[in-house]
Amino acid sequence: MVKICCIGAGYVGGPTMAVIAVKCPAIEVVVVDISKPRIDAWNSDKLPIYEPGLDEVVKACRGKNLFFSTDVEKHVAEADIIFVSVNTPTKTRGLGAGKAADLTYWESAARMIADVSKSDKIVVEKSTVPVKTAEAIEKILTHNSKGINYQILSNPEFLAEGTAIEDLFKPDRVLIGGRETPEGRKAVQALKEVYAHWVPEENIITTNLWSAELSKLAANAFLAQRISSVNAMSALCEATGANVSEVSYAIGKDSRIGPKFLNASVGFGGSCFQKDILNLVYICECNGLPEVANYWKQVIKINDYQKSRFVNRVVSSMFNTVSGKKVAILGFAFKKDTGDTRETPAIDVCKGLLGDKAHVSIYDPEVTEDQIQRDLAMNKFDWDAYEATKGAHAVCILTEWNQFKELDYQKIFDNMQKPAFIFDGRNVVDAEKLRGIGFIVYSIGKPLDA
Ligand code: NAD
Repeated sequence: MVKICCIGAGYVGGPTMAVIAVKCPAIEVVVVDISKPRIDAWNSDKLPIYEPGLDEVVKACRGKNLFFSTDVEKHVAEADIIFVSVNTPTKTRGLGAGKAADLTYWESAARMIADVSKSDKIVVEKSTVPVKTAEAIEKILTHNSKGINYQILSNPEFLAEGTAIEDLFKPDRVLIGGRETPEGRKAVQALKEVYAHWVPEENIITTNLWSAELSKLAANAFLAQRISSVNAMSALCEATGANVSEVSYAIGKDSRIGPKFLNASVGFGGSCFQKDILNLVYICECNGLPEVANYWKQVIKINDYQKSRFVNRVVSSMFNTVSGKKVAILGFAFKKDTGDTRETPAIDVCKGLLGDKAHVSIYDPEVTEDQIQRDLAMNKFDWDAYEATKGAHAVCILTEWNQFKELDYQKIFDNMQKPAFIFDGRNVVDAEKLRGIGFIVYSIGKPLDA
C-alpha cells in the first residue's frame, strides 16, 4: 500500500488529502500538523474549516484510509510520498520584509524530513513557494542524506476556497513539475498515478520544476489582475454613468476575454492573491526586472484604492461623517461559502469606518466572534442580519453570500434610522427594488442614486 503523508492540515492540506483518500481507497493518507487543536477538530464532527461538501468527503474515508495526527515524525518517516502544505506567509521582518515569502515553516518541515527519514522519499511542494525553492529544499535534504534518494516535485494547488471540493474533484488541470532525470521522471510518474485515479490524463500537465513553481504565482497574479482591471473600470463607470455589469457583460462576450472573474467588488482578499503578487514582485526585483515588478505592484495598488474608495463613498454619502452612527456590515469573509477572513477587504473597510468613529456591527454566517476579535480587536458581532441592522444608519454588504439576496429588506428598512443607506460592495442586491422601499443605494460601479 502506498503511504502518503501531508505536512500541514490547513485549507489546502485537509481538503486535498481528503479527496485523494476518497478517490484512492488503496492509498493510506495521513495528514499531520503541529497544531493539536487543528488536528482535534479534523478528528471531530466540527471540522476546522468550512467548505461545501467537505464534511461528506471526510466522513466517507476518515478512520479507513484517511487519518489526522500530531505525530508528525512517525508518519513522515513511514511515508513514500510527502506533501508539504505548510503556510508560506509574507515575511514581516528582515531581508525582503513585506514582500518575500517567509519560508520558515517550509524549511523546518524540510529539516524534519531529513532528520527522520530512513527510506527513499518523494517530497511534493503543495504550498505556494517562490520559483527555485525546490533547489533550496534539495540542498537541505541531500546535505546529509544517509544514502536516501529524495525527489522533489512541484505540484501547486489551484483550488479556490468556497469551491475547494468541486475544484479538487474536477480540476481544470493538475500541474506536476519535476527534475528532467530518470529518477525525476519516475517520481513524476508516481504522482501522476495517484491523480490518474480520477483526473483525465489530458488534464495532468507535467513541466520542469521551475515552470510549475512559477505557474502558481503567475496564475494568482493573472486572476488578481483581472479583478483589479474590472475594479478600475468600476471607478470610471461611476464617474461617467456607465454600468460596470453591462461593461463586464459586453467585454466578457469576447471569447478572447471570456465572462469569468469580471465582477466588480470592494476588492479581492484571501490569504493568497496579495501575498503571491508581493512574492512575484520580490522575485522580479531580485532578478533585475524592476519594470516588471512595478507592473504587478499596480494590481495591489488598485485593490487598496478600491477599498479606500468604498470607505470614502460611505462617509461622504452620509454627510461626511459616520461618527457615532451605527453601520451594519453584512459579510466579513473574503468571499462567499467560506469562513476565511484572512486579508478580507472587510478588515480594511471596518478599520476605515472605525477610524471615523462609526459604531460597527457585523454579521457573517460562517465567521466567528473570535475571528472578529482577532482581526479588529472588537467584539460587536451579531448572530443575525436583522439584529446587526437594527437601528443602523447604513448597511454595507461586503461578502456575496446568497442569503443576502433573500433578506426581508422591508423589515430591515423599518428598523433602521432614516435616511437609510445601503452600500453594496458586491452588487448582490436588487438596487431598484430597494430604492422602491426607500433606501438610498450605492452599488459598486453603477450609476449613483439620485
Ligand atoms: P494554513 O495556514 O491553513 O495551514 C498550514 C498548516 O501548516 C497550519 O495548520 C500549520 O499549523 C501547519 N504547519 C506549519 N508548519 C508545520 C510543520 N513544521 N509541521 C507540521 N505542520 C505545520 O494554510 P493554507 O491556506 O492551507 O495554505 C498552505 C499553502 O498552500 C500556502 O503556501 C498557500 O499559499 C497555499 N495555497 C493556499 C490556498 C488557499 O486557498 N488557502 C490555495 C492554493 C495554495
